[in-house]
Formats: sequence, structure tokens, C-alpha cells
Amino acid sequence: MNEIIINCDDITKVYGKKENAVTALRGIDLQIYKGELFMLVGPSGCGKTTLISIIAGILDPSAGTCEVLSKDVGKARQSELVNFRAKNIGFVFQAFNLLPALTAAENVAVPLLINGFSLKHSVDKAAILLDKVGLKGREKALPSQLSGGQQQRVAIARALIHEPKIIVCDEPTSSLDHVSGQKIMELMQELCREKGNTMIIVTHDNRIFKYADRIGKMDDGRIVSIES
Ligand code: ADP
Repeated sequence: MNEIIINCDDITKVYGKKENAVTALRGIDLQIYKGELFMLVGPSGCGKTTLISIIAGILDPSAGTCEVLSKDVGKARQSELVNFRAKNIGFVFQAFNLLPALTAAENVAVPLLINGFSLKHSVDKAAILLDKVGLKGREKALPSQLSGGQQQRVAIARALIHEPKIIVCDEPTSSLDHVSGQKIMELMQELCREKGNTMIIVTHDNRIFKYADRIGKMDDGRIVSIES
């Protein structure tokens, strides 16, 4: 486990301008390895979501570079980045971001459809993944018919379905009970161990720390320690 897949070099992020400027990241140096399950922890507002959004190519750094699979995501053109993300990165947002008019299976199928697979293939594979996250029988439910925890599991299945090399999750177990949370983490750990996927997980949930290969602690825009 020593191939560097993500390389953050002196990343700074400032939101807003002049008197409204908020410095969210203050010089982040971080290397993440292929097949690693890396957790990011730290108090609210310390910059965790900002950092993973830069890694996922959703947000540009103000200074410094972020190379993901050898691509400088801060400098890539938007159109290039859309394709790169669709192929290589799965993102579980804190707010789930499910499409309300689509069923659970259709929501999960979206990344495959974007990558050009047929509807039937995509929905069939979505059903397999929904089963893995404990939602067998709920394939046809709309998001509004699902609990918060069930919606979270749909969002996780959607991030995993196209088997992206990198999966970035913001508080993936925040709405889950203990047993569902452990089940999801076992699935994520299995993907890292068996398929060599790399996971970066922002969490406050100390019940899942045991699944991490390394835990990076952040405070006030900096990484203050990394523990194995
Ligand atoms: P965390 O995920 O650790 O809670 P964030 O990355 O969300 O931290 O936020 C880091 C800092 O950046 C906070 O001070 C937050 O208020 C600020 N921030 C985050 N997003 C924005 C934004 N879009 N505009 C202005 N400030 C922001």
C-alpha cells in the first residue's frame, strides 16, 4: 500500500474577498495511498468538507496543488473534470442529494447511465448494490418514502456502483443506527481490501474509527496529526 493516489501540496483555500474572506485551509500537505481507508476528523468548521471537496474536484484551491490519479484537479478544465469525476470518483454528500422524482434503484443507477451503460444493466446492478446496503425490496421507493438512514444508504450505493477508484464520503454514517453503520463500513473496507479502492471519510462517529487505516486530525485549516 504505497502507491500515492492523492497528493495535496500546500493547499490553501480562502472563501470570499477582502473583509468577508474566510480562510478554510492553511497549507495542507497530505498523501493518500491506493487501497487506503483514510478518515478525517476534527471540530466543526476546521475545513474537512472543504478539503474533500477539493480532492473530489468540486472546489478549486486558492493556492497549492492537488493531484488525484496524477491529474492536477485544480488546473483541469471544467469539461475535462466532469468526465474525470464521473469515471473515477464517487461522492457521498452530507445532504444525500438524491433526485426526488427517481426511485431508489434509478438514483443508484445514475453514475452508470452517465458512463453510457443501458438502463436495464444499470438498474439491475443498482438492485444488487441496494441489497448489499440492506435495502432489498425498496428498489422502487421514492426518496420521500424512505427514512433518512435509508436515503443515506441509497446515496452510498450510488457512490459505489460505478466502482470508482476513489470514494469520498462526508459523514456517511450520520443517519445510521449502529448495526447499519457497521454494515456499511464493512462493505467499504471490503472494497478497499479486495478491489483496491481508496476511501476518504469525514466523520465524527467514533464507533467507526476502527475501520480506518489512518486517521488525520484537522484543526483550524491544518492537519495537526496523522495516526495509523
Ligand atoms: P468542516 O467540514 O470541518 O465543518 P468546512 O470545510 O465546511 O468545515 O468549513 C471550513 C470553514 O470555511 C468554516 O469557517 C466555514 O464557515 C467556511 N466555509 C465553508 N464553506 C463556505 C462558503 N461556501 N463560503 C464561505 N465560507 C465557507
